[in-house]
Amino acid sequence: MSAAVCPFFIGGEWKRVSHLPTTPVFNPSVGEIIAECPAADAALVNEAVQAAAAAFPAWRDTPPVERARVFFRYRQLIETHFDRVCVCISKEHGKTLVEARGSLFRGLENVEYACGMPSLLMGDTVENIARGVDCETVHQPLGVCAGITPFNFPAMVPLWMFPLALACGNTFILKPSEKVPLSAVLLVELLEQAGLPKGVLNLVHGGRETVDALLTHPQVKAISFVGSTPIARSIYETGTKHGKRVQSNGGAKNYIVVMPDADVPKTVEALSTAAFGCAGERCMAGSTAVAVGLAADRLLPALVDAAKGIRIGRTDLPASQPDMGPLITRQHRDRVLSLVASGEKEGAKIICDGRAAKVADAPNGFYLGATIVDQVQDGMTLAREEVFGPVLNVMRMDDLDRAIEQTNRSAFGNGAAIFTNSGKAAREFKHRVKAGMIGINVGVPATMAMFPFTGWDESFFGDLHIQGREAVQFYTQQKVVSTRWFGEGVGDVWKK
Ligand code: NAD
Repeated sequence: MSAAVCPFFIGGEWKRVSHLPTTPVFNPSVGEIIAECPAADAALVNEAVQAAAAAFPAWRDTPPVERARVFFRYRQLIETHFDRVCVCISKEHGKTLVEARGSLFRGLENVEYACGMPSLLMGDTVENIARGVDCETVHQPLGVCAGITPFNFPAMVPLWMFPLALACGNTFILKPSEKVPLSAVLLVELLEQAGLPKGVLNLVHGGRETVDALLTHPQVKAISFVGSTPIARSIYETGTKHGKRVQSNGGAKNYIVVMPDADVPKTVEALSTAAFGCAGERCMAGSTAVAVGLAADRLLPALVDAAKGIRIGRTDLPASQPDMGPLITRQHRDRVLSLVASGEKEGAKIICDGRAAKVADAPNGFYLGATIVDQVQDGMTLAREEVFGPVLNVMRMDDLDRAIEQTNRSAFGNGAAIFTNSGKAAREFKHRVKAGMIGINVGVPATMAMFPFTGWDESFFGDLHIQGREAVQFYTQQKVVSTRWFGEGVGDVWKK
């Protein structure tokens, strides 16, 4: 039996299209195809844009409190169907259920933030800015916005985008990763149930061709993108060239500096979660530990033990969950393996080797065990490129200055963390490190919904970040209104 083709959602109608090319969606735990993802062509993208454009005037004119009420109901519906969505995330992505729950919860916080839109849209007023003239700012939606999302957070990253964009009064087209379209279908179904008017949110699937049609469509006003750096850069360039606002998040390589005075058990636990959580497939993964002075000797034996204790296995069986699931595809696992091999060839030492790890009841799953590569040197391919797998690089530095210099050599600038008991070292680190999200004794300093997700350098292209007030600014444009009234006196109008 052939796998079902994912539906589109356009103008409030679910639509299955049979003539389009498709790509397989895998259950990476067992390596089997569970669905086919169709690729929308320019005509279908245009249909979605027209539906979103037609829905815009009425949605824009819906009072913010009424728009927010849709998201109060949506919040409740996600909570009611929480387990169903998490099972879907685990099945199509390979996250453990615990990881899926954590990520959906983070997404839900963005829905909660969107519920506060009536307050978030408040403007400023200065009375009598000139004699008899008042001045105020109003924040108005842009129109049709689009969001293009990566495979690694099938629900959380879409939830970074459309709740806020819609609560601001825009209409939206979501284009999820073709590797994980099923969780997005569930999220859209739930928003439909929450009473969102037809055409306000539309769902299209596909890859490059679909994205290009969105990027160049004259009626699309803004693009939110999350994915790898080369694509993020090209989305920013093409989108802005076509006159759109673009916020474009790219890849990462996050350093965790460990000082000799760090609390060893707590640092080991945090490092192990940062490096191997979600099988390393997250943009905030702590993928390089920089051990300062004696920290390496204090830390590494316990870290290797912790990594060896991580059980890998199927995440698609809710009753028996492992500590770590598979990678997204066979090709991606092979890429990670080749990066580890390049490090070994260039002189690094593998001190915990997960490459031969097998899962007995899933021989065709895309697994790789936790791997630690010591003595990684700047300049090695493994040190420069984003690995996006359960691989922790270890670099050794003599002092904090050198550790900060090394951290700042990265082309990326998403996150960086330090583990220490010294306030002075932490202060120095937070002040000098070139990254947008800093953790002090926090291994994954990913920001919550009310703060922006502040990547720097090759991790972000644009001006206004995703999440928080910056995202409200991104999804709205400001008007400044200056007002004066003519006439003799305030009471005149009543006298007539
Ligand atoms: P990707 O760049 O391959 O794909 C992202 C999206 O772009 C998908 O929807 C995909 O269909 C589309 N796409 C792919 N090729 C395209 C092309 N040539 N032209 C236009 N669109 C194209 O990323 P991925 O592998 O799905 O996700 C992993 C990457 O995302 C990692 O690099 C990770 O660091 C990054 N990421 C970044 C953040 C962040 O906030 N900075 C968050 C999550 C993931």
